[in-house]
Amino acid sequence: MISCIVCGTQDWEPRWQILCRCRNCGFMRAAELPTPAAATGIYTEAYFFGQEYGDYLADRQVHVQNFAARWRDMRRLADDVNTVFEIGCAYGLFLEYASAHGARAAGIDVCGEAVAHAASELGQRVIVGDFLTSPIAAGEYQAYCLWDTIEHLPRPDLVVERIERLLPPSGWLFLTTGDVGSPLARLRGRRWRMIHPPTHLQYFSRRTMTQFLARHGFAIVEAKAISVYRTLHSVLSSLTALRKGFTHSAASAISRLIPIGGQNRMGMWVNSGDIMFVAAQKRASLSCGPSRAEAESQGPTS
Ligand SMILES: [Zn+2]
Repeated sequence: MISCIVCGTQDWEPRWQILCRCRNCGFMRAAELPTPAAATGIYTEAYFFGQEYGDYLADRQVHVQNFAARWRDMRRLADDVNTVFEIGCAYGLFLEYASAHGARAAGIDVCGEAVAHAASELGQRVIVGDFLTSPIAAGEYQAYCLWDTIEHLPRPDLVVERIERLLPPSGWLFLTTGDVGSPLARLRGRRWRMIHPPTHLQYFSRRTMTQFLARHGFAIVEAKAISVYRTLHSVLSSLTALRKGFTHSAASAISRLIPIGGQNRMGMWVNSGDIMFVAAQKRASLSCGPSRAEAESQGPTS
């Protein structure tokens, strides 16, 4: 039986067949959690070119606009942070942006092709593999970032525990993810666009995120709904997916009027209220004993 990563209990109820919900704290996750190896196998190059993203690198300017906004959020809250490690760095676009703005940045991703691009084309410091076993020294980075990544992880609890151990006192954790407690997610229910296991496995709300991070030694400094820069094409696709009504009709009509190439070049900021940015700071240590993860990791190789 799987323990809830937010409250530690093991009392789950089914939700729309594909998810389940903790009866104690309300946290939601995919009903079926893949093994880390199976989850890693999802993130091939095809994931970024056709499966989840249309063409990740063709939309480069869209991603860079979003990463620039996240970098501004980080600097506004923590202007002394100049060493950053990104988990789930994909093709390295955030690392490139942070490096260009004076940070010593590095990252990791499970997708070998993406990491190869980040290293050879963008000259970034990247490694391919599992963050839990990657060689990072304690205190090496002042901040860890997970942009639209935590929802993909089979064990976010282990990842956040390791981040907490690696960070210096008052170090930072920045992330973005969907907010299943937002008005739009509640309205859409099963049809909320973020619900798609087996890529999205963890469904946090602001409340469960606050409780989850507190459990792992972090205090939230800021949590807010963010505007996301999206291509006109992706916005229209979302609206036509509503299937009926005036919005669907209008979006379909606009889609037909604009050439496909034009849709991909145009973009806009959209705040649908269901994507949250969270900035959290490592709390002062309350005890001198090993963390749960440290106790678990005292295996034969350590
Ligand atoms: Zn729970």
